[in-house]
Amino acid sequence: MSKSSRSQVITCKAAVCWGNGEPMKIEEIQVEPPKSSEIRVKMLYASFCHSDILCAQGFPIPLYPRVLGHEGVGVVESIGDEVKDLREGDLVIPGYIGECQECENCTSGKTNLCLKHPLTLNGLMPDGTSRMSVRGQKLYHLLSCSTWSEYMVVDANLVYKIDPNLNLAHASFLSCGFSTGFGSSWKVAKVEKGSSIAVIGLGAVGLGAIEGARIQGASQIIGVDINERKKEKAQAFGMTDFINPKESEKSISELIKEKTGGLGVDFCIECSGVTSLISEALVATKPGIGKAIVVGGGNAATVQINFLSLLCGGTLMGCIFGGLKIKSDFPYLFEKCNKKELHLDELLTHKIPLEDINKAFQLIKQPDCVKVLIKIE
Ligand SMILES: [Zn+2]
Ligand SMILES: [Zn+2]
Repeated sequence: MSKSSRSQVITCKAAVCWGNGEPMKIEEIQVEPPKSSEIRVKMLYASFCHSDILCAQGFPIPLYPRVLGHEGVGVVESIGDEVKDLREGDLVIPGYIGECQECENCTSGKTNLCLKHPLTLNGLMPDGTSRMSVRGQKLYHLLSCSTWSEYMVVDANLVYKIDPNLNLAHASFLSCGFSTGFGSSWKVAKVEKGSSIAVIGLGAVGLGAIEGARIQGASQIIGVDINERKKEKAQAFGMTDFINPKESEKSISELIKEKTGGLGVDFCIECSGVTSLISEALVATKPGIGKAIVVGGGNAATVQINFLSLLCGGTLMGCIFGGLKIKSDFPYLFEKCNKKELHLDELLTHKIPLEDINKAFQLIKQPDCVKVLIKIE
């Protein structure tokens, strides 16, 4: 049981990753009180995002022991002295890039990578220290949060306050994967009415990209996945055509071109994280005007790109968090959620308690699995 008292260290349970390939261990950990610009959050639910697997494997930096998890929803338990916009009892979800609305990047209108509240990959809070420990040993955070824990400390600039009536599973899913896909269609590709788009990889990120493309008015939305069971699921989000590359000898780019009269698509969003498909995504786009967008994370350091497609004017770009800004863009996303325009119920396929976290690593490999919801309390 946790002992909750403001400004004191809390002892609670968390899932700790001790090394690459090792199962998660439920440990009693210590969570420090929040510093000036931080909040401590009592987690209610978390969820499993593919990047958690990559981080468990040591991507992009091997950091152990570490509390994983970056999707979730919880209640603010205590706040630091400088926190103005949040109070105890507020319901929040973590983001992992802030938005100061003042720095060169924020004011450029071209990126969500705020320079004042940047993406942190070093497993520490923005001030370079950790708020968690296990038997006196420092624990690393994940993206300066760590949601697979009964309590987490996070910088107040990196969270979004949500409507208390929101479905908690939906809130958790909107904190990373699905929103990343949605944003890649909406904010990065800037899909227009009548656009054609292909989405490679139909997990939660890919389904979010399809939903974003549908809401933007795309006329043709091609989903690509080697798992036939994803077909029906993706149709619910707005997919118009399905390609299973396993059923053909042809390359994915050839198959996409066949579905688009030979020209290719306006946009191709790569969500699978399979590095060889990044070049395929570019080749699958229309010559001169096509855009390929890399969304899925993978373990490779470099990729090979089709030279001619680039030379002929193709655009290849990547994005973090679907280009979404936590202050400017989240309200739109949550409005869509409130109006039931997002098919978030379709994402939930499995639910487990935190104690069974290792099961999630098995469930995620099952053909019918999209999202695993983790009940914390
Ligand atoms: Zn900024
Ligand atoms: Zn994620």
